[in-house]
Parts: sequence; C-alpha cells; structure tokens
Amino acid sequence: MSAEDVPEGWELIGDADAPRAHFGLGPKPELITSVRSLKDLMDRVLGRGEYDRTRQEDAGWAHVVPFPFLAMVGLREARTALLLSAIHPGLGGVLLAGPSGVGKSILARSFAAILPPVVRSLCYYGCLPEDIERGGLEAVCADCARKYQAGEPLATESPARFFALDPTVTLDDLIGQPSPPDQGPRFRKGLLAQADGHVVYLDDLARYPPLVVEAVLEAAAMGYYTVQRPGWTASYRSRFLLVASVDPTRTPVPQPWLERFALRAVLHPPQDDEARQQVYEHVRAWQEDPGGFAALYRDETEALRAEIHAARVRLPRVRVAPELVRAAIQGVQRLGLRSPRAEYAWLEAARAHAAAEGREYVRAADLDATATLALRWRETDLTPEAWTTTEAADARRKDRLAEVLAPFAEKGGEA
Ligand SMILES: [Zn+2]
Repeated sequence: MSAEDVPEGWELIGDADAPRAHFGLGPKPELITSVRSLKDLMDRVLGRGEYDRTRQEDAGWAHVVPFPFLAMVGLREARTALLLSAIHPGLGGVLLAGPSGVGKSILARSFAAILPPVVRSLCYYGCLPEDIERGGLEAVCADCARKYQAGEPLATESPARFFALDPTVTLDDLIGQPSPPDQGPRFRKGLLAQADGHVVYLDDLARYPPLVVEAVLEAAAMGYYTVQRPGWTASYRSRFLLVASVDPTRTPVPQPWLERFALRAVLHPPQDDEARQQVYEHVRAWQEDPGGFAALYRDETEALRAEIHAARVRLPRVRVAPELVRAAIQGVQRLGLRSPRAEYAWLEAARAHAAAEGREYVRAADLDATATLALRWRETDLTPEAWTTTEAADARRKDRLAEVLAPFAEKGGEA
C-alpha cells in the first residue's frame, strides 16, 4: 500500500505490527453514532453516554491506520488533555505519564487522526493567507502577493500528520541544514518546521538527548524557531502539537521539563474485569482486521474532527471574567506555585474546555475540570516516589482550590 492509497485523515505507519506490541489497552466496545455536539461526543468518549453497535462497511485498508482515538478504553484524563490541546493548539504540550504498556504511544498516534486538516503553504517561503490578514501584502513574498491579487490560492489543506521523533534525531534534523551545493543556495527545512500544524511525539522523554528536548520544547512554546548562519538568518513556523510520554515508575522526569508542558495526564490501565474483557476482545478484533475495525469509527472520527474545528473557531471569543482570573491566580499562589506559566496553562485550558462545551465564557466548573491537568507536578521532579503519591496530592490540591472557586460556583463566572 502506498501513501496515496491512505484515506484522508489517516496516516501510513511504518511498522504494521507496532500496535500488537501494546497489548493491554484497547478499543471501546461500543460504536459512537449520531453525535450532536462536541460536548455530546466528549461525554460519550469519556464514558458518560449511550452507544450503538451498528457495524459499517469494511473499507478494506488493513494495517496502515492508527488505532481509532474514539476506540480507546478508559484513559479519560489523557484523552481530555489531548482534546483540549486539539481545540487550543497554542496551549502548549501534553505530557502522558504512565507505566509501560498502558497505551501512551497508541493514544498519541491516534491523536493526529482527529485533528482538522492543516493549512499548508504552496510557496517555498511558507507564505499563508493569514500572513496577509495580519500584515497585508508586505507580509508575503512578491509571487504570493501577485497570486493573492489574482485570486489564486496561496495554500492548500492536508490531513494532520504524526511525527514520531526517533531518539537518534539530531539538532540539524530538527532545525534543518543547507541543501547540497548543486541544489542552489537553499536551506532545507527541519522536522520542526515540516511539523508545523501537525503532531510531534517524543516517546519516553528520558531517551532523548537534553539538547533535543530543549529545542523541541522551545519551538513548541514559541511556535517558531530561528536559524542563524554566517550572514544569514531565517525564522520558521513550528506551531505543532507536542505530545510526549514518560514512565515515572522507571525514570525521574526533571522539573524544568515537566513545567513546560501545559497539561500532564496520568494513565492507568483499566482495572475492572468488564473493561479488561472488552479490551481483550477489541484488541483481538483490531489485530485480525485493523482497517475494518478503524472503519467502525470513521464517521464518528469525522464528526469529532468537525467539532474540534468548530470549537477552535469559537475559542477566540471565549472570555474569562476578571474576577475569575483573579481567583485562578489566588489559587495558584495558594498552592505555592511561582511561575506565571501555571495560571496561563490553567486559564487557557479552561477556555478550551468552555469552547468544547459550546460556551463563550468560562465557568468555575471549567477551572475545576482542568486544574489537575494544568497544575500537578509543577514545582518538583516527578520521581517514582512522587508518582505513587500523585492521587493524594491531586486530592489535596482540589481541596485547596475548592475554597477559592466556591464563590463562583453559583453564578458560574458569567458576569
Ligand atoms: Zn510566498
């Protein structure tokens, strides 16, 4: 099967047998249909809804599709974090923390398929229509300015892709390097620029050289990076969605890295027998016919993608009442968190949460729903010991924030 045969929204993955290595996490047993809103869909994805088991036709493309995002069992926190990040790509990275085999990589890989299409420039210089909207015709190259005036397209759309960085990746790979001399004086774009608008995944953060992690974190935070060479400087867009996994039961994660992820989700394998039985049955179904299995979720994946797009469009209009901003800052200070990144991540995650629920204002409930993801593990290393006390620390934090948010519970921050 070639890349051209892959249906839109899906991605060719190199190792056809890779999903088999992640036994222990599997599909949700039910098929989700007739989604009315993103909130509805989130409710269903997160196990709060009704399901329909109607089987659709087999699309026939086997072994090349990622496991469907909507088919994951459990992992509610992680899926919420990824959905918030999909709605608000500027939020910052998502860290998935859990023991080996819990499905971190499968979930991350499934994430790209739920993202709306990415706007891709047709020009060598990467000019986009949004550049003209922000900076006028001066903001694009002469050729694109001419095209724009002639009504020709500057960009096209392509499905979001999944860039899994290998631990052997070098800084040159990431930022780019000069082309061979026979190809003229051009600088070849690095992976971080090629990944603009797409998903970048670091599988087990501890395996990567610190310089690589720093470069990826920096580009993710800025949304661009700059390359300087003698007599020459260029900046590249790199507004990718960063997802990384860690296994804190084996390797401590240093605080400076932790703190630069907007959201940190805990993943545990499903515990009850029924869920595990469903996991087993659906992992088996997936192994027998991955394409047919993914086809069961195709329409709902399409619906989710459209709803995420709608929530992205809504997001710029989502406001937070000033008194709720002050309450969030007080909460962060009450927890002893010093960096303003804490309240930024928390308030922006709450805005994304409100957008997901179809509102244009943030309620205290949005802050409550996003506090744990945004605020845990911000000031200390994530050691194996800290990992085992995560639940207790989360409960303590929730109690302390409840007092700050309580006055807003009634009126919901609509003022
Ligand atoms: Zn151009």
